[in-house]
Amino acid sequence: MTAAYLREEHHIFRDAFRKFLEKEAYPYYSEWEQKGIIPRSFWTKMGENGFLCPWIDETYGGFNADFAYSVVINEELEKVGSSMVGIGLHNDIVVPYLASYGTEEQKRKWLPKCVSGEIITAIAMTEPRAGSDLAGISTTASKDGDYYIVNGQKTFITNGIHADLVVVACKTNPDAKPPHRGISLLVIERDTPGFTRGRKLDKVGLRAQDTAELFFHDAKVPKENLLGEEGKGFYYLMEKLQQERLIVAIAAQTAAEVMFELTKRYVKQRSAFGKRISEFQTVQFRLAEMATEISIGRTFVDRVIEEHMQGKSVVAHVSMAKWWITEMAKRIAAESMQLHGGYGYMEEYEIARRYRDIPVSAIYAGTNEMMKTIIARNLEL
Ligand SMILES: Cc1cc2nc3c(=O)[nH]c(=O)nc-3n(C[C@H](O)[C@H](O)[C@H](O)COP(=O)(O)OP(=O)(O)OC[C@H]3O[C@@H](n4cnc5c(N)ncnc54)[C@H](O)[C@@H]3O)c2cc1C
Repeated sequence: MTAAYLREEHHIFRDAFRKFLEKEAYPYYSEWEQKGIIPRSFWTKMGENGFLCPWIDETYGGFNADFAYSVVINEELEKVGSSMVGIGLHNDIVVPYLASYGTEEQKRKWLPKCVSGEIITAIAMTEPRAGSDLAGISTTASKDGDYYIVNGQKTFITNGIHADLVVVACKTNPDAKPPHRGISLLVIERDTPGFTRGRKLDKVGLRAQDTAELFFHDAKVPKENLLGEEGKGFYYLMEKLQQERLIVAIAAQTAAEVMFELTKRYVKQRSAFGKRISEFQTVQFRLAEMATEISIGRTFVDRVIEEHMQGKSVVAHVSMAKWWITEMAKRIAAESMQLHGGYGYMEEYEIARRYRDIPVSAIYAGTNEMMKTIIARNLEL
């Protein structure tokens, strides 16, 4: 069953993108995982072939593609492996801030290079002492003539090493009450004096995805790099986090589907006690349960995608999709590993890597506990 938002052109695009990935990504993925990074050359090839931010307006080098193209891109990247998430983050999470809140001058300067792959982007909200509590960030940006002077530290930043341009949440008014009204977004460029990168972090999973610490020590940021208005940063983040959470749900749903197929294939070829393990009723029931949960997830995420494409407010539904689907994918990962027996614990089997990769989807883009807080708030209890 294919989703109503996917038309023939999306299927043709999916085939073309998959062929591209079969040539340029699948053969190198293990090497990227070992090296701990996806090379810039892959980003450039993505750009050259029109797979970076195709939704951007033609004026700035894009194709005006609808969100269904983003869905296809994120699904196909996830099928290669979860470490590709940094590309989806650039395409559908960070660059939309520039397109929505940037001035004409900022858009002309940055967007065409985001499409070509010359600019890789990141978003930096999280700090060592403030993750879920975004209003509690302590990075400051104080005005000094034509510059903001930025001081602080960010951590867990996806694309942190590669990023040429980072959207940084800072306090332009640390005394604001309530505190979230003091947050602004600054676009900080690679060569900004006082901006340095820390360690590339060593993670349990997503081993090819570059995740890093960022430091700002009297970093001198031109005041033209303010995104939108001062004091509106928190509101911009709350708006754009909806699509971010939807992207995480789409990736987790795809991961669950991939893990199911791996497991189905495995149980059909593995034998024990003189028959294929897929013939044991207990194994069949577990696969039946997995297939049911995956179908429920797919139906729901497709509905939220449609609502998002129709411009409806998806705050509650996207929070539901993000927590439920990521938890479902974690259950599928655990069941899939169990059904692979000892081989599932071996790195040479894909399920081992998928099992390591999936838990973070319940943590980033707002933890699942925060998703439930949002859902509860929307219940007007
Ligand atoms: C691989 C990876 C990539 C990431 N990429 C980025 C990125 O690109 N940019 C970025 O800004 N951040 C990024 N993050 C950070 C991520 O968004 C945060 O880790 C996440 O928001 C949680 O924040 P924290 O780690 O500080 O946990 P905390 O906020 O300290 O939470 C710890 C635990 O307490 C729970 N908790 C906290 N407050 C409450 C509450 N009020 N009620 C109930 N439970 C609560 C949480 O749910 C969690 O279980 C990334 C993280 C990882 C691991």
